[in-house]
Amino acid sequence: MTDNNNGVLVVVEMEGNQPIDLGLEMLALARRLTDSVGGPVTAVAFGDGLETAGEVLISYGADQVLINDNNAFSNFHAEAWLPDLSKIIVEVAPAIVLVGHSDAGTDLAPRLAFRLDVDVATGCEAVDVINGRPHMTRGCFGGLAREVVTFARSPAIATIRSKSQEALTPIIERSGEVKHVTSILDVNSIRTRVVKREREKAVGGVKMESAKVVIGGGLGLGGPEGFKTLNEIAELVDGAVGASRAACDLDWCPRSYQIGLSGRTVAPELYLAVGISGASHHMAGCGNSKTIVSINSDPKAEIFKSSRFGIVGNSQEIMPALAEEIRKLKA
Ligand SMILES: Cc1cc2nc3c(=O)[nH]c(=O)nc-3n(C[C@H](O)[C@H](O)[C@H](O)COP(=O)(O)OP(=O)(O)OC[C@H]3O[C@@H](n4cnc5c(N)ncnc54)[C@H](O)[C@@H]3O)c2cc1C
Repeated sequence: MTDNNNGVLVVVEMEGNQPIDLGLEMLALARRLTDSVGGPVTAVAFGDGLETAGEVLISYGADQVLINDNNAFSNFHAEAWLPDLSKIIVEVAPAIVLVGHSDAGTDLAPRLAFRLDVDVATGCEAVDVINGRPHMTRGCFGGLAREVVTFARSPAIATIRSKSQEALTPIIERSGEVKHVTSILDVNSIRTRVVKREREKAVGGVKMESAKVVIGGGLGLGGPEGFKTLNEIAELVDGAVGASRAACDLDWCPRSYQIGLSGRTVAPELYLAVGISGASHHMAGCGNSKTIVSINSDPKAEIFKSSRFGIVGNSQEIMPALAEEIRKLKA
């Protein structure tokens, strides 16, 4: 497949009938990219019960929305999505395809690239068009450096990190076209079956990527009980709890808490790093936070270099005292 030039196609993941924030952030990026590559911004949404999805996606910047509304798509399943998605991309012929750097997107995008015989750049923070060709910027060497990659074939597929872009303010009056896709999926052709799906329990119902306050815990918490205090504080401030990979490796908290290069990306108003050394692999997932405050017993800890405020001390004494103070203030 070569010389696709029909704008930018965004694969928007849905949660129920609502797009996830990352989908809206990618629509903003797509709008900016079409200034250079021309053509429309096409949003593609797979799911079940997506009656209102079209208008929402148009208000956030899509020119046309292709809806694949089918109960086979109520949950993400790469094998089920691929036949329809590949066909849509061949028909639309976009220059660039943006997929979220989420659990689903990182599963989907490489398979999609293989099917279409094109290239994919995963974990991108920026996409720019230089001399008519998309250039993708992403972290490399464990987050210590940035590399820019470009491809000869089109469409270029890129997975985009959460919070690397800002969603547009929705304009309800924006007009666009909503089309319903006729699925070519043969359910009998799916070789894998999802037998169980467990929804991640967000602290106080706040999802890490959309929380204004994220509290990250590391080995300096001293054990799993340290996370109980972090969860308590998060509930008090409507925040979410994350962790370093080292803490997840020791099962002090669920794996889904992991922030960093091989975990989730957050950019809250406040990131409170507790007992975290500040390895580049961790900072790759939280370095864009507006304010970083860290608590560490080692005054020379690397994390202090990225922090606006630092507290040198024992987290096992500071965190319970902090919880107590917040409780008093709230009372
Ligand atoms: C390919 C690759 C990918 C990786 N991806 C990730 C990733 O996605 N996310 C991630 O986090 N890591 C990742 N890592 C691991 C990363 O390099 C670090 O090993 C990890 O982040 C360290 O976790 P930590 O800060 O909890 O532990 P440590 O580095 O051991 O730091 C613990 C900190 O706690 C402080 N401390 C100790 N006791 C106390 C106390 N009582 N009170 C306060 N502070 C205290 C110490 O001074 C220290 O600074 C990756 C590594 C590789 C090789």
